[in-house]
Formats: sequence, structure tokens, C-alpha cells
Amino acid sequence: MKPQTLLAGATLGVMGGGQLGRMFVHAAQRMGYSTVVLDPDATSPAGRVSHHHLHADYLDTRNLAELARLADAITTEFENVPADALAQLAAHRPVAPAGEAVAIAQDRAREKAHFTRCGVRCAPYAVIESEEQLALVPDALVPGILKTARLGYDGKGQVRVDGREALVAAWDGLGRVPCVLEQRLALAAECSVVVARGAGGTLVHLPPQRNLHRAGILAVTEVFDGVLPDALAQEAVQATRSIAEGLDYVGVLCVEFFVLQDGTLVVNEMAPRPHNSGHWSLDGSDVSQFELQVRALAGLPLVQPRQHSPAIMLNLLGDLWFRPGADAPVEPDWPAVLALQGMHLHLYGKSEARPGRKMGHLTITGASPVAVRQAALAACDVLGIEPF
Ligand code: ATP
Ligand code: MG
Repeated sequence: MKPQTLLAGATLGVMGGGQLGRMFVHAAQRMGYSTVVLDPDATSPAGRVSHHHLHADYLDTRNLAELARLADAITTEFENVPADALAQLAAHRPVAPAGEAVAIAQDRAREKAHFTRCGVRCAPYAVIESEEQLALVPDALVPGILKTARLGYDGKGQVRVDGREALVAAWDGLGRVPCVLEQRLALAAECSVVVARGAGGTLVHLPPQRNLHRAGILAVTEVFDGVLPDALAQEAVQATRSIAEGLDYVGVLCVEFFVLQDGTLVVNEMAPRPHNSGHWSLDGSDVSQFELQVRALAGLPLVQPRQHSPAIMLNLLGDLWFRPGADAPVEPDWPAVLALQGMHLHLYGKSEARPGRKMGHLTITGASPVAVRQAALAACDVLGIEPF
């Protein structure tokens, strides 16, 4: 379907109803669009705020047809949405990103092959789909991390392996599904870059973000001048550009990187959608990653976002609702957090807190990197988040 410019009054559709969809819906509605969300969960965060909500499985043909009828263009917020569903939609409406790009991002083996094709270095790895491939794994890949090729997120579907026996056991434990084994690298830091690319090839980006993961889940993102060495930040943007152009990508794409202890950059993975590490842009940038998603989908101009404040994002995981000694979940002390300067609280409207579940995030903006860090540490203290 040929993209056209969609103006206010048109309806934008999104596959998936999680928090990313919710923030896309907010951005779309602010700019005058109607929205439709397809998600099987009747209480999904995005479905609850959208004009229309189709509760259906992602492959339900009747509801996909209804989505295509209601929406003038369709995007995705959920990276495991079946590529088939996107292909069905694309027969009727513009879909961005394209199903093919999403399919590559869904499969770690295809994703790594794409990075290599684009000249971007990834961790040494081997694809494991058979006993033969398992036996042929080079010694250099152990100690490593065995990851299912598909359907992993937030560190799920991953096992750290320290020897060959552990590797065999881990592959068994993962049900012998197709996997990649990656060499476990000594990381000095992690970072990510969010880009938006339009149908005509215009590409803009948010400044590179420094990320701290805990137990495989993003915990903290810091974005301000000097958070990463300049040359490294430029290299990360250039690598992300090559990866997006190599896919002829349309929409918002996030690429995550490792910084090794020798200061070199290695690509980790990509997400074909806005990303948790770009959430700060709602509060610290004149254009957010969700507005970029709306603009790219609607065929509106993409302009380079300008960060106006140093920013730090703290993820608010369900663990914060379980204070030591309490036998039931307790709402964190938001008034105490909001009494600090520069706090921007985002809660996703999820009814039940569970450990590891992303319930919301807190962006802290400030006049300087020192001020923003001080405020973030004060917020950590109030909330019981480990300081960083
Ligand atoms: P998400 O989709 O939520 O970003 P995921 O489940 O896809 O996460 P990865 O990004 O593959 O998981 O890994 C999660 C974290 O585990 C990384 O951010 C990094 O901290 C660590 N990690 C992953 N692979 C390696 C590796 N090869 N060497 C060292 N650390 C790694
Ligand atoms: Mg990751």
C-alpha cells in the first residue's frame, strides 16, 4: 500500500495493547487522531485509553479485517506480533514497520545475520537447531549465554552456561527449540539508539542513551552530554542508521549495544518499535519517540528531536509494591516522590503488580547532569530502588 499523508481525524491502528501502545495512543490522540488497538486482553493498558479496542488474538482473521476497516494505517508495539498478521493487514492498509523487518527482529539468528550484512559487529555466536550444531559449537563461545531464537524478552528464554555439559542441559531445558549461543562478553556499559525513518528515507534519532540492566531487565537509562564518549556515541548512531537503511525501515527502531571493556562497540539486538530506553524523550526532548512513531506512520515530516534537559529514567517494576515485611502489595509513596524536583511519573494502569512486571517509569529532568543525578538518587531512596 502506498503511504500517504494522514491528517488529524484519520484513525491510526496499533497491534498490541501494552504500555508502548498506550503511549503511542496518547501521542496520536494529542495530535488529533482516533486510535484502534488490537489486543486479546480486555484490560490492556492501551485498549483502556483508545477510541476502539478489538479484543482478539493477533491471528484472528475477522478482527484483522475489522482493524483494517477502522484504521487508515497500522503500526505495532509488540514485537512478537505474527508477521503473517502484518502481511494480512498490509494487503489493505499501509503498515509500518513492514512485516518483513519485524520478522527479522523476531528471530535472533536472522537479526544477527542482518547486523553482519550491515557491517556492524555482534557478539561471537553460533546458531543451534540440531544435535550436530550443538556438538560443533566452538570452545570460545563458552562461557556463554544460550538464548531462544524467538519469543525472548526481559531476559526470559536465556540461560547462562559455563561449560559444555551445562550447555547440553540448558538446550534440553529450553525444549530444544532453535537457539543462539553467544559468547558472554565483559561489558563496560550498555547503550541504545532510537531512530525514526520515513518512507522517503529521512532518518532522525534521539541522542544515544546509556542503559543499566539488572537481572536482564532495563533498570536505569541516563541521557545527557558526556554520558558516553563522543566517538562511541557517533559510532552507535551510524551503526543504527546502517541497520535501519539495510531494512529499508519505516517507523521507529531501537538498537541496543554493548560497550566492551576495551571501549569497542558490539550490537546486541533491535526492537522494531519505540523502546523502554527511549521513554525519557516524553519529558526530556521536544519530540518524543512516540510522536516520531505517529509522524512516521502518518507520513508527516520527521525533524531531528532536540533534548532540552538532562534526563534519567528509572523503571518502576512490580517489585516496588512488595516492601519487606508487608504481606500484600502496597502502592509506593508517590506523593513523596513527586515532592522532589523534576519528577515525571508515568504509570501504565496495570491492575496487578507482580515482581519483574513493568508497572511504570519515572523520568527525572534537571538543569545539569549533577542535579538530575542527585534527584534520581533521592527518588531511588524514597522508592527503595538500589542506587546506581
Ligand atoms: P529485552 O528484549 O528486554 O531487551 P532480552 O530478553 O531480549 O531483553 P538481551 O537484550 O539479549 O535480552 O539480554 C538482556 C541483558 O543481558 C543485556 O542487556 C545484557 O545486560 C545481558 N547480556 C545479554 N547478552 C549478553 C552477552 N553476550 N554478554 C554479556 N551480557 C549479555
Ligand atoms: Mg535486550
